[in-house]
Amino acid sequence: MIDTEKKQTKKRIYLSSPTMHGEEQQFVAEAFDTNWVAPLGPNVNQFEAEMVAYTGCGYAAALSAGTAAIHLGLKLLGVGQDDVVFVSSLTFSASCNPILYEKATPVLIDSEPDTWNMSPKALEKAFEVYPNPKAVVLVHLYGTPAKLDEIMEICKKHNVPILEDAAESLGATYDGRHTGTFGRIGIYSFNGNKIITTSGGGMMVSQEEALVQEARVLSTQARDPARHYQHSKIGYNYRMSNIVAGIGRGQLMHLEEHLKHKKAIYARYKEAFADIAEIAMNPLNPKGDANNWLSCITLKQGCHVTPDRIMDALEEQNIESRPIWKPMHLQPVFEKYPFFSHYESKNETENDSSVSEDIFNRGVCLPSDIKNTEDDMNQIIDIIRGLF
Ligand SMILES: *Cc1c(COP(=O)(O)O)cnc(C)c1O
Repeated sequence: MIDTEKKQTKKRIYLSSPTMHGEEQQFVAEAFDTNWVAPLGPNVNQFEAEMVAYTGCGYAAALSAGTAAIHLGLKLLGVGQDDVVFVSSLTFSASCNPILYEKATPVLIDSEPDTWNMSPKALEKAFEVYPNPKAVVLVHLYGTPAKLDEIMEICKKHNVPILEDAAESLGATYDGRHTGTFGRIGIYSFNGNKIITTSGGGMMVSQEEALVQEARVLSTQARDPARHYQHSKIGYNYRMSNIVAGIGRGQLMHLEEHLKHKKAIYARYKEAFADIAEIAMNPLNPKGDANNWLSCITLKQGCHVTPDRIMDALEEQNIESRPIWKPMHLQPVFEKYPFFSHYESKNETENDSSVSEDIFNRGVCLPSDIKNTEDDMNQIIDIIRGLF
């Protein structure tokens, strides 16, 4: 039981809350002063241009959410009713939901243990059963780049486009190149707890200008180029507003600083738990540079301290933590869809039938807020160390 009275007297330590710097408000004020309070305007154009310059993504369309970006991305890749789309199982539901918006069939792909991202082995198995998926939605979980070389090679061999869900991995690179720029289409999210935020927002990016141009059309109700309001296809109201884009421009100026903080948080936890054999940090990809959006740990199989015990102990001190995403193949709403495990057979591990389920069962996301002070970090670490 959590002592709520004691809890309320303490400052809350967050998992990952927005960190504003001041420039955000200036860009928003400019938008008000010039009366650009609309879903278009100079901040939207500038934010897109600045993201293109930062990531090298080619072209970008600022949208109302990362989920909207995935939805339009799927549409642009031609996903429709009864098409098959492969998607990482260990992710947030927003990677998967838009597949269902289009009445397509998600096929859920397990993780590999080295980066927690899509398993090339499970992906190959899925291709054996479903040789013609319309797209592969590849997630870079918690900001660690996936095994891009292997995944891209497999997708190239089967001639299937990748939609890269880089919602959690803005600023992370692989082979020196930004995540989100490898797929035919990439998406970013600026939701409230992501590494930079616009309160809510997203972006669809591509090296192909035509795809991004079409995303702009579809996201503004798909008006034909005519003076009268004429529509020859179904559109959406998915465009980012000029106010929201102003927040994004201010945040982007501080992304490098956020990355440094996040890296320091990961390093601090790693060092603090180095002598506890039961604790392992979430893996990084040696071929890339993670953005360390969330620092996570896993507990050794059979460890007497459970993830719930850690989350309860932190919550008692008003400290926010979170379980690992529950895999999509274990979700009531998605469990009826096909799933391909990294393991050859159910017997390969003693406890779980998939890598993602194992990570879910043994993992915790630790507070990774860049406003955490040295004192906050020490307190979190002391609480966890105290359980061992
Ligand atoms: C946050 C997130 C999204 C959705 O982004 P929104 O901007 O919240 O719509 C999609 N995929 C993953 C992996 C996410 O973490």
